[in-house]
Amino acid sequence: VSKRAFNFCAGPAALPEAVLQRAQAELLDWQGKGLSVMEMSHRSDEYVAIAEKAEQDLRDLLSIPNNYKVLFLQGGASQQFAEIPLNLLPENGVADYVDTGIWSKKSIDEASRFGRVNVAASAKGYDYFAIPGQNEWQLSKDAAYLHYASNETIGGLQFDWIPEVGDVPLVVDMSSDILSRSLDVSRFGLIYAGAQKNIGPSGLVVVIVREDLLGRARASCPTMLNYKIAADNGSMYNTPATFSWYLSGLVFEWLKEQGGVAAMERLNKAKKDLLYGAIDKSDFYTNPISINARSWMNVPFRLADERLDKPFLAGADARGLLNLKGHRSVGGMRASIYNAVGLDAVEALVAYMAEFEKEHG
Ligand code: PMP
Repeated sequence: VSKRAFNFCAGPAALPEAVLQRAQAELLDWQGKGLSVMEMSHRSDEYVAIAEKAEQDLRDLLSIPNNYKVLFLQGGASQQFAEIPLNLLPENGVADYVDTGIWSKKSIDEASRFGRVNVAASAKGYDYFAIPGQNEWQLSKDAAYLHYASNETIGGLQFDWIPEVGDVPLVVDMSSDILSRSLDVSRFGLIYAGAQKNIGPSGLVVVIVREDLLGRARASCPTMLNYKIAADNGSMYNTPATFSWYLSGLVFEWLKEQGGVAAMERLNKAKKDLLYGAIDKSDFYTNPISINARSWMNVPFRLADERLDKPFLAGADARGLLNLKGHRSVGGMRASIYNAVGLDAVEALVAYMAEFEKEHG
């Protein structure tokens, strides 16, 4: 019987237990080769096979069309905030950004260091509790791209639609919702995701980029940040994050075994329905996000009296329900329920919430 806790951390987040067990079993001696994946040359046949299989499994999971490159890069999602304008925003161009929370604001600040940014829409007018409809957006005439975050991890605000921007490349930060539900990759110019939520260990960032967007980097773009150079070198211009890449591959294999993204979507829908249902039927817990923009992955909620936050968290910890404290900028609670967090975890949380309410409500 596993002694592992239910981990609701926003990231680095829970990984599937089966993946950790497999990594453990293979740690000292990978498939009889007598060494760990961590100790292999990234140029070895063995490692290249591991890396290629991970990419192929991700392509299968998301049905990534052939005219897209899949890159396994470093620096997390935050490095992409600079990498995107350096590669896609001409020095005299303009890029459109949508602000739906803290991560999109960070991407806006970083892009502004490299060129002209037009904030086409902001959720600020809705206190970040709702996403402005596209009829309210002020798009530029000749934007180099439009950037948005499909799921704001801290605020718990998620798009349930894809912006319609014609020929303008759509660039999306999917750090906290990639692989959680079905996705039409062909709608996007570039998709990126920090790994530490639905993919694998932190530090790694996965970039899925349409081939026609390669080769547009400005001359000053550092070699290590140039998508074309990364693509031409199979994400091995330098030594990649080999172990993180391998572990992500194990997660992709696990996802396929679970029935792929469609199965995850069904599971994640059941999980979020259960949790939001529990919040909505009580007068003790609240979530302020407008119904159609509620995140399936990150569920912030407040208790009726914030003096109860500490005892709530202490009781949760004692039951092995970990990392429920909300982000410091928001307060309250937040349950992150990524793919590797099972329905049993959400059931345990909801049972504890009811128990706590009975005692303190
Ligand atoms: N974007 C989003 C939506 C995130 O949730 C995060 C991390 N929580 C980031 C970007 C930054 O990721 P990283 O720490 O990998 O740079």
